[in-house]
Amino acid sequence: MEEQGAPHLVVLTGAGISAESGIRTFRASDGLWEEHSIEAVATPEGFARDPERVLRFYDERREQVRRAAPNAAHRALAELERAGIRVSIITQNIDDLHERAGSRDVLHLHGEILMARSSVDDALRYPLSSGGIRLGDVCDKGSQLRPDVVWFGESVPRYGDACDIVAEADMLLVVGTSLAVMPAALLLEQAPLEAQAVLVDPEANDLAPPGVGRMALSAGQGVPRLVKYWRATGRLELPNDLLSL
Ligand code: NAD
Repeated sequence: MEEQGAPHLVVLTGAGISAESGIRTFRASDGLWEEHSIEAVATPEGFARDPERVLRFYDERREQVRRAAPNAAHRALAELERAGIRVSIITQNIDDLHERAGSRDVLHLHGEILMARSSVDDALRYPLSSGGIRLGDVCDKGSQLRPDVVWFGESVPRYGDACDIVAEADMLLVVGTSLAVMPAALLLEQAPLEAQAVLVDPEANDLAPPGVGRMALSAGQGVPRLVKYWRATGRLELPNDLLSL
């Protein structure tokens, strides 16, 4: 059970946390997302040009997500929450692996692949418990359904909510993101001055901004290690060997 006044861990996760679950990051493959250009499958212009291709692409990604399972990093974060630490997760990922691991407080900055939404009204969203979206599937207002995913060039409706959460952090844990996707990168700056921050990413030594601790490990190695330390000490502080970084 979560305690009143419990220390608050805010976790910002990117595609890297799901890499060990078999879902590829796209920067890993030269800016191609599973062999497709980002312009073709992750922009409103790409959807307008060839909606069938875009719907098929997300149908494939959705099936991949359904087949995948949470890994040690997702599970460790859910365990920490069960141990009484307040854990808020802000994810750039469109998969549901945090939820399936048992995390209860998850904000999807870039949407959810297991939801469809109207292409004229963002508020009209529909769960996709099975199957995908076909050309001709329409919302209650009669317009074509699209994946509930924020594409490049679109606004990020939940960014304000994410800023409010980060502003209440005692500790900020960033996992598996190059911090290159805006505006997620700016979120770090919303943290209170006294909050510590750490980045877990194999490329952490190159990516972490000044003042951010770095663990150059995969998510599945680094996150359980930090969680074990926090559970043992009962306090959200960085291990000494990360403090000076
Ligand atoms: P990104 O720019 O955040 O880069 C991915 C990061 O993951 C890199 O820094 C890389 O070093 C790191 N990484 C790779 N393997 C790792 C591991 N095992 N453990 C920890 N870190 C690891 O993300 P991107 O791939 O360029 O994707 C950009 C956007 O595309 C995302 O924000 C998301 O909206 C979408 N996307 C989502 C998913 C998903 O939902 N799982 C997957 C790919 C892309």
